[in-house]
Amino acid sequence: KKPPTRKGSLLDVPADLLQQIHGFETIFTVNGDKLKTIVNHFITELDKGLSKKGGNIPMIPAWVMDKSTGKEVGKYYACDLGGSNLRTVLITLNGDKTFDTTQSKYKIPDGLRTTQNRDELFGFIADSLTSFFHEQFPDGVAEGVTIPLGFTFSYPASQDRITQGVLQRWTKGFDVPNVEGHDVVPLLQEQLKKRGTPIETTALINDTVGTLMASLYTDPETVMGCIFGTGVNGAFFDVVKDIEKLDGRLASDIPQDSLMAINCEYGSFDNEHLVLPRTKYDVIIDEESPRPGQQAFEKMTSGYYLGELLRLALVDLYEQGFVFKDQDVSKLKTPYIMDTSYPSRIEEDPFENLEDTDDLFTNDLKIKTTVPERKLIRRLSELIGTRAARLSVCGIAAVCKKRGYKTGHVAADGSVFNLYPDFKPRAHQGLRDIYDWTEKDDSKLPIIIVPAEDGSGAGAAIIAAVTEKRLAKGLS
Ligand code: BGC
Ligand code: MG
Repeated sequence: KKPPTRKGSLLDVPADLLQQIHGFETIFTVNGDKLKTIVNHFITELDKGLSKKGGNIPMIPAWVMDKSTGKEVGKYYACDLGGSNLRTVLITLNGDKTFDTTQSKYKIPDGLRTTQNRDELFGFIADSLTSFFHEQFPDGVAEGVTIPLGFTFSYPASQDRITQGVLQRWTKGFDVPNVEGHDVVPLLQEQLKKRGTPIETTALINDTVGTLMASLYTDPETVMGCIFGTGVNGAFFDVVKDIEKLDGRLASDIPQDSLMAINCEYGSFDNEHLVLPRTKYDVIIDEESPRPGQQAFEKMTSGYYLGELLRLALVDLYEQGFVFKDQDVSKLKTPYIMDTSYPSRIEEDPFENLEDTDDLFTNDLKIKTTVPERKLIRRLSELIGTRAARLSVCGIAAVCKKRGYKTGHVAADGSVFNLYPDFKPRAHQGLRDIYDWTEKDDSKLPIIIVPAEDGSGAGAAIIAAVTEKRLAKGLS
C-alpha cells in the first residue's frame, strides 16, 4: 500500500486556527530527549516489576520456558478473546517452521463486554468453541479423548502455572463483575462441561507471549512480541535468576539459567504520572474511564483511545468558539463516538482540501466543516498518531536495553500497527531518536519492528506443544 500523500499546506489557515494548531503541536510533540527520559524511567520500572515487592508494571512470568524451534508438531485448538471478535482456530504445526490453520470468527455481541453476568461471557466463548468443535469433528471424538486448547486471554492475568490465569483487572473497556481476582480457566471449563464439549485448556496465554513464540517459530532473531492495537503490551524472554519474584515459586529441578517468558503488561507504565507528557485530554480520558489511574501508557498509545483524544480536543475547540460555530455538535459530544478509524481515515485523506474528511464529518457527525477546520483536524490527527507511535517504542527500547539486545526483530501485531497510516515509519523514527542512530533506511536499523506471525492462533498452539514437551520431560 502506498503511503498517504501528505498534502494540505497550512498557508491559508486563518491566524486564530493556526495559533490553535501551534498549541497542539507544542503539547502533543515528544522530542528525542523526552523519549530518552521516558525510556530510562521505563527500564527502572521493568526491573521493579520483576522484584519481590513489585511495581506498577506487572511483569508476569508466563510459564513458557522454552523458545520455539520450528520443529514442534501436532494439532491444537486455540481461541482468542479479542476486542471485537472471538476467534477459534485449529492449528496444525508441521514441524518445518510452517503451520496451517482453519478458523472461525464470532462477533462479540453488543453489551457482552460489560455484561453483569460473567457466565454470559464465558458461555459465549464456550458456545463458539462448541460449534467450532462440531464443525471440525462432525462425528465427535472417542470417549475419554479431549482436545487441548491454548486460550489467548489478552488481559493482565497472574499465573503460577501455564494452565491458570487470575485476572488482575480488565482493560480495553471490558468490565464484567466477578472475574477480577478469579482464575478464568475454570470459568471457561465449567461452561464447556455444561455443553459436554471435550476441550481442555492446556495453556492460558497472553497475546504478546503468543506473538513472541509464533514469530520465533519462523524467525530466530525475534527478541520481543508486541501488540499495538486496542491495547498495548510486550513480551520477551528473561533469565530465571534475574526474576526475583520467582523465588520459591520454581521447582528445584529448574536450572537458574533457564528462560522464562515475561508478559510485561506495560500498558500500566507510569500509572503514577511521573514522566509521560500528558495533555488535559489525556487527563479527561483517564478520569472518565471505568478504571481511573490505570493503564496510563496504554491510554496515550492504544487504538482504544486515539479517536477519543481527537474528539476531546475538537470539543474543546468548539467550546472555546474556534470551530463548528453555531452547529449542532451533539453527536461529537458522545464519548467514544470516534474510534481509531477516524484519525486513521483523516490521515489517509488524499485530497488537497480533505474532501474525505468533509464526508466523514457530514455523514457521521452531522457537522459541516470548512477547509481550514479540516486542515486543523488533519494536523491534530497527525500529532496524535505520531505521538502514539513514538511513545509506543519506549517499551521496546526499554526491554532491549535492559536485556542488552543490540540487534533483533520485534514482532508486532495489532490494529494500530497493521492499519494506522505511517505507524511503522514513525515508530522507527522514535527508535532512531532514542538510540541516536543515523541510518536512514528503516529496514537497516539494528532493531526493527516486523509484522508478527499469528500469535493468538499459532502462538497458542506452539505454547501448548512446548508445554507438553516440558511436562513429558518431567519438569514442572
Ligand atoms: C492487556 C494486555 C494485552 C494488550 C494487547 C492490554 O490492555 O492488558 O494483556 O496484551 O492489551 O492486547
Ligand atoms: Mg488481539
